[in-house]
Amino acid sequence: MNATVPNNAPQSLLSIDESRFALAHERDCARIYRLILGGQAHSRPEIGRILGLRSTSVSRVVGDLLARRLVLETVGEASGRGRPPAILLAHGRRIGASVIYVSSQSLSGALVDLNGHIVAERRTAIESEADNDTIAAAMADLARDLLDAMPPGMGHAGTAVSLSGLIDLKRGQWLMASRWPRMRGLDIGAVLAPVAGPVEICRNLDAELRARAAREPDQFSGGTLLLHWGWGVGLAYAVDGEPFAPAGSFGEIGHWRLAALSNRSCGCGNTGCLETGAALWSLLPALRRHWPDLDQDETRLARQLAGLDLLALPQVEMATELVARALANACRLLFPARIAVSGPFSANPQLWARFNSLFRAEGTMDGFAMPDLAGLRASQLYEIHGAAAPLLSRAAEALLAEQS
Ligand SMILES: [Zn+2]
Repeated sequence: MNATVPNNAPQSLLSIDESRFALAHERDCARIYRLILGGQAHSRPEIGRILGLRSTSVSRVVGDLLARRLVLETVGEASGRGRPPAILLAHGRRIGASVIYVSSQSLSGALVDLNGHIVAERRTAIESEADNDTIAAAMADLARDLLDAMPPGMGHAGTAVSLSGLIDLKRGQWLMASRWPRMRGLDIGAVLAPVAGPVEICRNLDAELRARAAREPDQFSGGTLLLHWGWGVGLAYAVDGEPFAPAGSFGEIGHWRLAALSNRSCGCGNTGCLETGAALWSLLPALRRHWPDLDQDETRLARQLAGLDLLALPQVEMATELVARALANACRLLFPARIAVSGPFSANPQLWARFNSLFRAEGTMDGFAMPDLAGLRASQLYEIHGAAAPLLSRAAEALLAEQS
């Protein structure tokens, strides 16, 4: 375990793209806002020095940023004689975005500000029998509640929906999810746009990978695979932090069909999928026969599984072998430089060691280096941050480009 959970230090979720701006003044606004946002400059003279701009130009841009309340000005402590210097700070609560995401058998909602702080949280349990209408109503209620929780002065960037299962990004549809087998082809945009748009949908693993890469760019440079081995089993792939999911559905190795699992039926309608032998949903009954108190929430379960002799169960040994082989095969498709594994199973040291050695034994091809393999500590905060970031960035860019 060498990854960190996001800490409390304010770090902006924004990635501002200067090339989107047509006018020189807008680009200056973006550059100066970025400096203040990143804490590299706190005063007009500092900005002028770093960017080589005249003080009148700096003052004009800072004036615009203050007028749009993207930046706040406070008065610092005086050192010696003279007026105390004005300190410029990015206004973290200027914009907020709502994120709706899946957690266990619930839909959760979080309102996040520009620094990734959670301003409000909501959660609604959804029974596994729920159909499209029930899930749509729950989503709309969450979106409305989060909008109502906006503090005064905050602008709303929209609602991001981070989903597991199969997704059609172009049509904005949630095609299938193993937790809610009666749900099919839910049109998320049609449900949420009238309530709290604009609406953005993404795969949960892409969102997580994007946020982890933004926080630790060195750890996630080049081609990186994120394998989630939890309630479901799935992959995300990113190059330099940019997720590869052209149509939405991608990396569903949990539904690769394996001869060893021939007759077992899967929520996707097929039989013999990897998930039927390796996902938490299929293993939990056997695990609970030995440890009845096991939670189905992945974060709590990770803590519970850490100290158990999981490999004593033949089902877990088999699952570990199957996932290691599937991952090795995926490497022959994507050739990642590194692989990060998240989910409750990787939190068990014996299982992790076994998985590691099986994966290495699967080998790679001559002349191609084994990718680095690292376990990640679970935190849904990454998913929330990664889902919110594009909406927040676009809303900030719109404010920066506003004509004054
Ligand atoms: Zn399946």
